[in-house]
Amino acid sequence: MTDRSRVFVSHGIEALSALAGRDLLAPLRDKADCRVWAEPGRPSPEELRGHMQSAEGLLCLLTDRVDGELIEASPRLRAISSVSVGVDHIDLEAATRRGIPVGNTPGVLTETTADLAFALLLAAARRVEEAGNFLRRGDWAGGEWEIDAFVGKDLHGATLGIIGLGPIGQAVARRAQGFSMRVLGWSRSGRQVPGVRGVAFTELLAESDFVSVHVALVPETRGLIGTEALGAMKPGSILINTARGGIVDERALAQALRSGRLAGVGLDVFAQEPAGADHPLIAFPNAVLTPHIGSASVGTRVRMAELAVRNLIAGIEGNRMPACANPEVLVRFGKG
Ligand code: NAP
Repeated sequence: MTDRSRVFVSHGIEALSALAGRDLLAPLRDKADCRVWAEPGRPSPEELRGHMQSAEGLLCLLTDRVDGELIEASPRLRAISSVSVGVDHIDLEAATRRGIPVGNTPGVLTETTADLAFALLLAAARRVEEAGNFLRRGDWAGGEWEIDAFVGKDLHGATLGIIGLGPIGQAVARRAQGFSMRVLGWSRSGRQVPGVRGVAFTELLAESDFVSVHVALVPETRGLIGTEALGAMKPGSILINTARGGIVDERALAQALRSGRLAGVGLDVFAQEPAGADHPLIAFPNAVLTPHIGSASVGTRVRMAELAVRNLIAGIEGNRMPACANPEVLVRFGKG
């Protein structure tokens, strides 16, 4: 490493460091001249570009758009590290063309994100949010215990279809087996997973009482769950998405909820994030919605930050990153 590489950190992660009881950026500060974004809010694309003019490394979040233009406008950039497993906010091809490794955080968030997918599944199936809101509004007071109030769906004995059998899809399958569900799975590569019956995409949609989405967002999966796929789902089924908002066509989803074709939905991710209070899906009482908190446990977010820091240090030192989303760069540059 040249003396004290300069890196830009787009979020100081101070609150997470406080929860961890230590400065999570300390290992990076030891190795590099860290410029940390300290203004309120997030850096705008222009502000990011300004900082990247002199930075050799970037530590970013999934809300930072690292497109080809930004990469081109960062003449000294040698390593990018994102505190996320998904890297759809980064132009991987542009980074690879420049020989820049892109670090991400697979593995450490798998179980935590699968927990959230399951939380949404249970909440949507058993109408937890709808029922909770009924109680909070005071609508229960003075009423009765009704035999048909908030009747939902059982998980046991039902069929869960998992779209994308990567680490998180597999972790959801393990949970479903513990809940005595029948599990179907689809992945483009025909991946075989114990306890999961691999089926064609349309068969999965037609047979599943619950469908949970776990593919990466890439051009081929954008809009994968659109009008046609939603129309192929079992009437009265429930869709869960903790992957990326762009995989589901939200307009078509709203229509499927409006028509009653779907009984409910559980979403942690949205096409446009952050989503505003005017988001059309908020109007549906049977939509369980969370603001992209899939990996949000203290332990997991700390492990993600630590891995991202290790990735960036390795990248600026010219070493192999512990987790690299474009490993072909390393092979090309003889580090593989
Ligand atoms: P991942 O490596 O990000 O994604 C793996 C899955 O994507 C595999 O099933 C893979 O299929 C599929 N895939 C990749 N390219 C595809 C293509 N062109 N067409 C169809 N499928 C394709 O694995 P992961 O760690 O399980 O994460 C899944 C996604 O969850 C991430 O990409 C991320 O966007 C999202 N995520 C969200 C949160 C959250 O906070 N809500 C947290 C973590 C992750 P094959 O198996 O056939 O290769």
